[in-house]
Amino acid sequence: MGDAKIIDGKALAQSLREKIARAVTELQSAHGLTPGLAVVLVGENPASQVYVRSKKKQTVEAGMASFDHTLTQDTSEDDLLKLVGELNADPAVHGILVQLPLPDQIDADKVLEAIDPNKDVDGFHPVNAGRLATGQPGLVPCTPLGSILLAKQALPDLAGLEAVIVGRSNIVGKPVAQLLLQEHCTVTLCHSRTRDLAAVAARGDLLVAAVGRPEMIKGDWIKPGATVIDVGINRVEGEGGKSKLVGDVAFDEAVKIAGAITPVPGGVGPMTIACLLRNTLQAACMIEGVAMPDL
Ligand code: NDP
Repeated sequence: MGDAKIIDGKALAQSLREKIARAVTELQSAHGLTPGLAVVLVGENPASQVYVRSKKKQTVEAGMASFDHTLTQDTSEDDLLKLVGELNADPAVHGILVQLPLPDQIDADKVLEAIDPNKDVDGFHPVNAGRLATGQPGLVPCTPLGSILLAKQALPDLAGLEAVIVGRSNIVGKPVAQLLLQEHCTVTLCHSRTRDLAAVAARGDLLVAAVGRPEMIKGDWIKPGATVIDVGINRVEGEGGKSKLVGDVAFDEAVKIAGAITPVPGGVGPMTIACLLRNTLQAACMIEGVAMPDL
C-alpha cells in the first residue's frame, strides 16, 4: 500500500467559507438579511481567547455581524443566564455561542439549555441532540459536521460502509455516529471499555478518532485502504523541547496503511469554525423563514 491521500481540511474550510460569504451577500441583497453571531467568553482562559478571536475574525470576513460579550471570571450564573436571555430575544442575533469551559461557579449544562435551540449554533442543546437522533432538521455540532464533510472528500458515497468511531462524547463521538447512521453506514461506537479496540478499529472502512490521547491509534489498527478522520488535538513535546500538535492517530504509521487521512493540524480543526459559520447562516435562514442556500 502506498502513501495515503492527505485530506486537506484547510483548503476545504476555505472553500466552504468562500461559499458562505457569497451566500451571505446574496441574502443581504435579496432579503436585507445579515446573519449575526454572538460569542460569549467568560474569564481569561488563553486557549478560549484564541478560539474566540478566530471565530470573530472569520465571522466578519464572511460578511456576518459579530457581537462579542466578554465577561469576567467571577461572573455569576444568573448574570450569564440573563445575557443569554437577552441574546435569545435580540432579532439581530441568529447564533449564540457560549465558549466552554465555563468557570466552576457556573453550571455549563444549565447555560447551554437556556440558549434558544434555533440559535444554538454549537448544536449542543438537548433539543438539537434529539433532532439529530430522530432525523429532524436542526443545528448539528460543528466538529462532527466538519468531520463528515472531510470523510466525503475521500468517500463521496458512505452508504453501506463499516464506520468505526473511537470516543463517545456528546460533542464529538455521539453526533458523528448519528451523522454516519444518516449516511447509511454500519456504525460501531467505541470507548474506554471496548474490548480489543485494535481489532474493532481494523473493521472500519472509515475510522474516526476522537479520544484525546496522542497517537493512540497505531498503523496496524487500520484496515488497509481505509479513510481515517483524526479529530484529536493534543499538544505534546516535540524535538528540542518545543511543543507541537498531534492527533489521536500515529500519523507516520497510519499514512502508509490508510487510503486517505486527515493531518493534524490542518484536518478537522479548520473545518470547525467554517461549520460554525455554516450553522449561523442556517440559523438565520430558519429564523427568518428563508431557504438555506446550497453550499
Ligand atoms: P472527551 O474526553 O469528552 O471524550 C473522549 C472519549 O474517548 C470518551 O468517550 C472516552 O471513553 C474515550 N476514550 C478515552 N480513552 C480511551 C481509550 N484508552 N480507549 C478507547 N476510548 C477511550 O473528548 P472529546 O470528545 O471532547 O474530544 C476528543 C478529541 O477531539 C480531543 O483530542 C479534543 O481536543 C479533540 N477535539 C477537537 C476539536 C476540533 O477539531 N475543533 C473539537 C472538539 C474536540 P469513555 O466515554 O469510556 O470515558
